[in-house]
Parts: sequence; structure tokens; C-alpha cells
Amino acid sequence: MAYDRFGRRLHYLRISVTDHCNLRCVYCMPEDATFMPNSALMTQAEILRLGRLFASVGFDKVRLTGGEPTVRPDIVEIVRGLRAIRGIREITMTTNGILLARLAKPLAEAGLDRVNISLDTLNPAKFRRLTRRGDIEDVIEGIYAAEEAGLKPVKINAVVVRGYNEADVVDLARLTIEHPWQVRFIEMMPFAGATEFQRLMLVTAEQMKARIEANLGKLEPVDGGALRGEARMYRIPGARGEIGFIASVSKPFCAACTRARLTADGRLRLCLLREDEVDLLSPLRRGATDEEMRRLIVNALWRKPWGHGLAQGEVPQDRSMNQIGG
Ligand code: SAM
Ligand code: SF4
Repeated sequence: MAYDRFGRRLHYLRISVTDHCNLRCVYCMPEDATFMPNSALMTQAEILRLGRLFASVGFDKVRLTGGEPTVRPDIVEIVRGLRAIRGIREITMTTNGILLARLAKPLAEAGLDRVNISLDTLNPAKFRRLTRRGDIEDVIEGIYAAEEAGLKPVKINAVVVRGYNEADVVDLARLTIEHPWQVRFIEMMPFAGATEFQRLMLVTAEQMKARIEANLGKLEPVDGGALRGEARMYRIPGARGEIGFIASVSKPFCAACTRARLTADGRLRLCLLREDEVDLLSPLRRGATDEEMRRLIVNALWRKPWGHGLAQGEVPQDRSMNQIGG
């Protein structure tokens, strides 16, 4: 088991399998984003070796993210390889859904348990403005394909941006009446690449909830309004699905954090919003033994920072979101 110096048991690994993406969302990266060369990205074998090492120190949950994880040609093989690792109980993915209509079934067959699909609006023109490219129809087809493939419960993640989609929370929330989906609204976090935009255009979870309630009536708390992972969950009375709010900026959930992250270039990132990282890929490529790697990982995890410093105005400037995976 791996613990940090504050006694938090760390067991959830988020792996950014690539920083490349087929969209350019305004809150994630600049329009002219450049990506790492493939040689800098972890190979499939390197991802699986690190997966085994993390499992051997008690990690049991893996999320594949990016960039866009489905643009990696070997993504199905990566899932299959992770599934074969003893100790890994749950494998999930965060995806923009563009390629999911084709990939949902093979991914499920390879052992993927669930997907979170990012969709910030149901309006095609606004979708295009937020993602700067891409066709919303592909995402909608992807959502149905995921459901059909058994990647359930389907979770839909929406980042809410003032001046872009703050009114769209109502239509997105309405989806949960008919569908057993979890629609989760995320506060936009400031990050390198678009910091000023992200700060100015923040909509808080409280504002999102107020808008939904003004249109759809009072929401019922699920689990007494307790945190489930990073979200507080609610329900429209009688609805089949649930609505969640992830208030990473206005109400951080750092005390309950159980996560570590691998960046696309194989750095262990100890907190999404702090620059502290430990290079795992270089020693791996230099031939470090499993025992040496394990020591490096456990010692690094011990130093996980208590939490992020957004409230103090500390914004990470070293990387954009797609390299770390959100
Ligand atoms: N490409 C995939 C996708 O969009 O789902 C996975 C990677 S993306 C970086 C992971 C998540 O981070 C997505 O749900 C995305 O909406 C979210 N995200 C990106 N930039 C963000 C920001 N500045 N603040 C909050 N969430 C952000
Ligand atoms: Fe790509 Fe996801 Fe970033 Fe959008 S949020 S640009 S889909 S990595």
C-alpha cells in the first residue's frame, strides 16, 4: 500500500497516454497547440510496466486520459494489457467521444469498465465554438455506442465557461430525466496555456446549480449531498440519471484525494495543479530494475503535496491540461 505523509492512501492512477488530440477545446489548449513527438510519449510496453509497478504498491484503479486517449492506435491493446495486471480492479477512460462509435465495443471487450465522455453543450454551433473543430453528432453516437457496449453508467462531463455554455447546463441536466446517465458539471481550472481566460470565465458550481434549479426545480441530494469521488451528486425528482457538480476551484476536495498521475511523457505528477513531478520514464529507459522503480515511486508518492494553491493565486505554468490528463 502506498501512503503520503498526510496519511492518505493513494490507489488511483490517471495515465495520460498521449497529449495529442483531435479537438482544441478553448479551456484546455491554445488553438495553435503543438504536441510532443511520439518518441517522447510512453510506449505501450512502458505504460504496462508502470501499470504493473503501481499495482504492486497497491494501486487498484486506473483511468486512461490524455490528450485524447482514443487517437492512440494501440489504445485497445493498452486496455487489454492493463486488464491482465493482477490487482487492477477498475479501468476507466475519459474521452471526448469523437471516435467512440467505432471503439466502444472493442474497448469494452478488451476490459474497459466505464467511460466519462466530455460534452459541454447540446448545441452544434456552440460545440464547434468550444472545441474549435469536431462534429457533435460523432459524440452523441459515441455516447449511445458506449451505453450499448455496456460501458455503464455513462458519465458525461461538461466544463462550464462563461460566455460560451453557462446556459446549456439546463439542457444537459434535462438529459438525466430520460437517461440513466450521470451528467457532471466541472468548474474550469486555470492552467498554463489559457490562464487569464480560465480565470475570467469561471462559473462556480453554486451558480450552475442555481441556474438548473431556476429552470427545472429543486434538486434532491443523493447520498445526503456527500462527495462521491470528486463530485456532489443530485437528482431531478423522479429522474433516471443523476447530476453532479465538481467544484475543484471553489470547494477543493484535496483532503480526500487518492490520486497520482502519469503525464504523457512518463512523469509522476503528484497533484494536477502543482508543478511537482518525478521523472519515471528516463530511469525506466536507462534499465532501472523493478525494485529501483518501486522505491522511486513510493518515495515520490510520500511527498504528494497537501493540496493545490488556486485560492492563493498559485497556477501551474509548466504544462497544459492535455499533457496531464485532467
Ligand atoms: N480528451 C479527453 C476529454 O476531453 O475528455 C480527455 C482529456 S481532457 C484534458 C480531461 C478532462 O479535463 C475533460 O473532461 C475536460 O473537459 C477537462 N478539462 C480540460 N481543461 C480543463 C480546465 N481548464 N478546467 C477544468 N477541466 C478541464
Ligand atoms: Fe482535447 Fe480533451 Fe483537451 Fe478538449 S479537453 S482539447 S478533447 S484533451
